[in-house]
Amino acid sequence: MTNNNQVVQTIQHRIIQAAQRAGRNAESITLVAVSKKRPIDVILPAYEAGVRHFGENRADELKEKATTLSYLKDVKWHFIGHLQTRQSKSVAQYAHYFHAVDSVKIAQVLSVQLDTFKRNLSVFIQVNISGEKSKGGFDCYNWQNNVQHVENLIKAIKEIAALPNIQILGLMTMAPFDAQEDVLHHIFQSMADLSSNLGEQLPNNLVQQLSMGMSRDFEIAIEEGATFVRIGSAIFA
Ligand SMILES: *Cc1c(COP(=O)(O)O)cnc(C)c1O
Repeated sequence: MTNNNQVVQTIQHRIIQAAQRAGRNAESITLVAVSKKRPIDVILPAYEAGVRHFGENRADELKEKATTLSYLKDVKWHFIGHLQTRQSKSVAQYAHYFHAVDSVKIAQVLSVQLDTFKRNLSVFIQVNISGEKSKGGFDCYNWQNNVQHVENLIKAIKEIAALPNIQILGLMTMAPFDAQEDVLHHIFQSMADLSSNLGEQLPNNLVQQLSMGMSRDFEIAIEEGATFVRIGSAIFA
């Protein structure tokens, strides 16, 4: 318990320091503790250390944890991975945030399911900035020189924004696992640029938040403007 408390405090401290380096207010940054693949008992100590946002990437695991811990009324569940339509019901029923919208189709299916549960879902549109084949999301590799990429993305965002029960918060991306610091800075900065570029072309501040940064690279992501960081192994080692 004490140990977990210290781990969470250390991460929170590192978030504050990275924000200060960038002249940002750390209160604009939400820590999502990625509890995926970890037993349910690791969540309570983290909750007691002040964490309220937890990330899962399997629908059945989300359902189990959310129902078991439903008495913790202020916990917010984040679904952070690729979602197939046949598993989307649990996300519609239990998740508060979904970070990996990678098609209009999945958003349409969720929108209908959310209606039956009388729920809303905040979402991030996942973009692939790095160009890695293994990464999901709308293709935005070298978007500065590819008008078509940006147009496709804007079209999708407009379609998703028109769906009931879904609120777009912004963009999400994953950086390569083995990239050097300068490459990571470049990718996260490109992501922030894309977000402000879209912001100028879309109404109503549709893309304001940036979900980027994991255990290895969250400080760099914060320096480049991340507002949601998804941290797993650095908390639940
Ligand atoms: C697993 C995962 C994370 C957390 O990764 P760590 O390296 O353990 O911090 C963050 N985001 C996504 C999309 C993930 O799948």
